[in-house]
Amino acid sequence: MHLRSGADIRGIRRMSGRGYTVGIDVGGTKTAYGLFDADGKIIARRRHPSDAKLAPEPFFDRIIGNINALCAEAGVSAGELRGVGAGMPSFVRAPDGCIIRTANLPLIRDFPALEYLERGLGGIRAAVGNDMHVGALAEHRYGAGRGRDNMLYCLLSTGISSGIIIGGKLFRGSRGFSGESGHMIVTPGEGPECGCGNRGCVSAYASASKIPEHIRQWIEDGEETSLTEPFSTARIAEGWKLGDRLAVRAVEQMTLYMAVWLFNLYITLNIDCFVFGGGLLNMELPLLDMVREKFDGFDKAGMPVEFKTTELGEDFGIIGAAELLRA
Ligand SMILES: [Zn+2]
Repeated sequence: MHLRSGADIRGIRRMSGRGYTVGIDVGGTKTAYGLFDADGKIIARRRHPSDAKLAPEPFFDRIIGNINALCAEAGVSAGELRGVGAGMPSFVRAPDGCIIRTANLPLIRDFPALEYLERGLGGIRAAVGNDMHVGALAEHRYGAGRGRDNMLYCLLSTGISSGIIIGGKLFRGSRGFSGESGHMIVTPGEGPECGCGNRGCVSAYASASKIPEHIRQWIEDGEETSLTEPFSTARIAEGWKLGDRLAVRAVEQMTLYMAVWLFNLYITLNIDCFVFGGGLLNMELPLLDMVREKFDGFDKAGMPVEFKTTELGEDFGIIGAAELLRA
C-alpha cells in the first residue's frame, strides 16, 4: 500500500543513506507514526492516543511495539530500517537524549529515552528531540523555510515557543534546550505565574492558555464585558469583532507581547525569516498583521524581515522527527 500524502511530501529530497526511517510525533494527546522509504515518501502510518497514565518504560515499550508492527505491516525488515526519530513535547537533554520533563505527560521525566529506544529496537539508531526542534527542521527542509540560511519556527498556541535554524542547521544550544523563548522574561516578578515557575514570561501574556486568567482579573477589577466563560479564543475573536473592550484589550495584549518577543529575538539573532504555526492563527482576526504592525514599530533598522506561515500539514511532526536522524 502506498500512502503518499500528496502536497505535503512533494519536493522531498532523497534522504542521505539507504533504507527506511520511522518518524514518531508524540503529543500530549496522540502519538503518530510515519514509515518513510529511502526517497523520503511516507509509505505507512499508524496512530494511537498517548496514555498519560503510563510510566516511561511501558510508554516507550508501546512505541517500540508500534514501530515493529508498522514495519511488519509494510513488509520492512529490521535490517532495512536505518533509524527511528521521535519528537517529544519535552525538555530533551543533548546529546544523550534523556527526557528531563514533558508537558502534558508528567510521568515521562528523568528518563534515558534515546538509550531505551535503541536497546529496545535491537541496536537500530534512534534520535529523540523536542517538538519545536522537529517543527523547525520540517519547515526548514520541506516547508516555508526551504532554502533559507536562518529561520525561526514560531508556535502560537496554548504556549508560545520557537525552534531556531542558524546557518542552515538546527541550533540546539549547549544542552538541547534552545528555543524556549516563550519563557523570555519581560516583566520580572509581575503577571500570572507561568508553568515554568517564573512570573513575567511572554507566554504568560500571549498564550491561549493564559489569556483567560487576564480577562478574569480584569473583570474582578471591575471592567465590563460581554464575554462569558469559557474565554476561548473563538469567543475572544467574536468579542473583538464586536468591539468588546476586554476582548480588544486581550487581543492588543497578546499581539503586543508577541511583537516584543519576536523583536527581541530578531535583534538578538538577526534572523530574517519567521515561520508561524499553531492554533492561534485560526482565530478569526488578523493576528499576524497586528503583530507585524507592532513589530515594525520597534524595528528602526527597517531591513527586510519575512513573516510566513507553515506549509506542511499535520504530517510536519512525523517528517521532522525522521529528520532528527540527520540533524
Ligand atoms: Zn515561563
